[in-house]
Amino acid sequence: WIVSICSGAGCISSKSEEVRKAFQDELAKQGLQEKVHIKVTGCMGLCDAGPMMVVEPGRILYCHLEPSMMKELVEKHFLQNEVVVSFTYYDEADKEYKSTMDEIGFFKGQEKMVLRNCGVIDYGSLEEYISRDGFQGLNKALHEMTPEDVIEEVIESGLRGRGGGGFPTGLKWKFAAKHREGQKYMICNADEGDPGAFMDRSLLEGDPFNIIEGMLIAGYAIGATKGYVYVRAEYPLAIDRLEEAIGIARQAGLLGEGILDSDFSFDLEVRIGAGAFVCGEETALIASVEGKRGEPEQKPPYPSDEGLEKRPTVINNVETLGNIPNILSKGADHFKRHGTEKSRGTKVFALAGDINNTGLVEVPLGMTLGEILFDIGGGIPKGKRFKVAQTGGPSGGCITGDNLNVPVDYESLSDLGAIMGSGGLICMDEDTCMVDMARYFMEFVQDESCGKCLACRVGTRRMLEILNRITQGQGREGDVELLIELSETIKDTALCGLGQTAPNPVLSTIKYFREEYDQHIRDHH
Ligand code: SF4
Repeated sequence: WIVSICSGAGCISSKSEEVRKAFQDELAKQGLQEKVHIKVTGCMGLCDAGPMMVVEPGRILYCHLEPSMMKELVEKHFLQNEVVVSFTYYDEADKEYKSTMDEIGFFKGQEKMVLRNCGVIDYGSLEEYISRDGFQGLNKALHEMTPEDVIEEVIESGLRGRGGGGFPTGLKWKFAAKHREGQKYMICNADEGDPGAFMDRSLLEGDPFNIIEGMLIAGYAIGATKGYVYVRAEYPLAIDRLEEAIGIARQAGLLGEGILDSDFSFDLEVRIGAGAFVCGEETALIASVEGKRGEPEQKPPYPSDEGLEKRPTVINNVETLGNIPNILSKGADHFKRHGTEKSRGTKVFALAGDINNTGLVEVPLGMTLGEILFDIGGGIPKGKRFKVAQTGGPSGGCITGDNLNVPVDYESLSDLGAIMGSGGLICMDEDTCMVDMARYFMEFVQDESCGKCLACRVGTRRMLEILNRITQGQGREGDVELLIELSETIKDTALCGLGQTAPNPVLSTIKYFREEYDQHIRDHH
């Protein structure tokens, strides 16, 4: 048997380490330790059902495990060859247990390219990563392609930045590559700050070699010899696993001088950020890596011309880089087969809020929101009605029930006044107050504003005051108009993306739920 035990941060916090220990003890008691190979994996996705394990053969999924369940599990499954059905996944919608992963809607509807190894391989095993085509992309790039070929392949794939901006990745690389001389840098942005988002964290925890390979390929393409992964300090597990993987890769000759017998040299360092939301913005992130206060700068110059230490620098998000090895090893055409014409490939979403299957999913772009929330997410708990889905966190907007059949791609979401964002997808049921939700996000950005420019520093504070008084039953007539006016001013005059997008949740909720604002204000009068 092969037993994979989830050790993503979510499952660890629900005691998967204790479960693993109890499982190992029980196997030893029954003399089965030689017959069961245990793999410690990253996130399997279905976080709500953790801690969980998958037993092969059969892809049997056991969930909500506790150490006290291990005796029965070992006796029944491993001694008597019997699936312990009551420990498997209970499907709320179909009102029945589903024992194998292939039966469960959450897994059936997904298409895993970036997450293909997450929850499948031992996160610290270079051998396992290599056995699943790991470092094939890098090998091909170094031995069969010029840096220009690599950039053309990425442009051809249509990959767009997964951190939220959606800028074509290959083009970004091309801008930096055109500077022929001198030092260049490659940075991986793992500062993931949106409330409710944990895509990047899970990727780093579950498949760190994939990100290292993506960085190496990008470094080769743009001509950089030095890379940094900028991770927020709140992700200690991701940091540890990445550091460990970097050490293993270095020992194996995959980092350093003359990688894979080529003349390409590249090394990688982890930089830990203190968790300021604004440091996800490229120029603030660069300042932070340089050891300065993380404050945004005016663009241009863009980092691809003048970035870290004023040298050409490419900054890509974790998920973007996670796509690169696959694009190189399988080719741009394979990648392009997934998704829509303008939004190629897949997208990882963190499902959170009022949804049965809270967790991490990867779906082809263009899948409808309804399919994501109901077929994969399992719908709304306690028979409540769906009200709204929020994408893009504090920079995003809401999608209402009328738009559940809209394909989730960059263009369709922005037409609705929402954005793709980095992948936070928060589902809310009929009981959610939209003004309160907008207030929550405004409080977040107000707190995270770096204070460099007036519109954002003071404007978000004034907006928060207005939202506070509305939700506390002290709203005044004209408050909604004031919110709209302030929003427009901040959007037009703020220096960086944080400020420019800060009013989005307010504008989006006013657009779709104006009546709720008016109701709060009327109730006061
Ligand atoms: Fe700082 Fe806000 Fe100005 Fe951005 S918009 S630089 S976060 S004050």
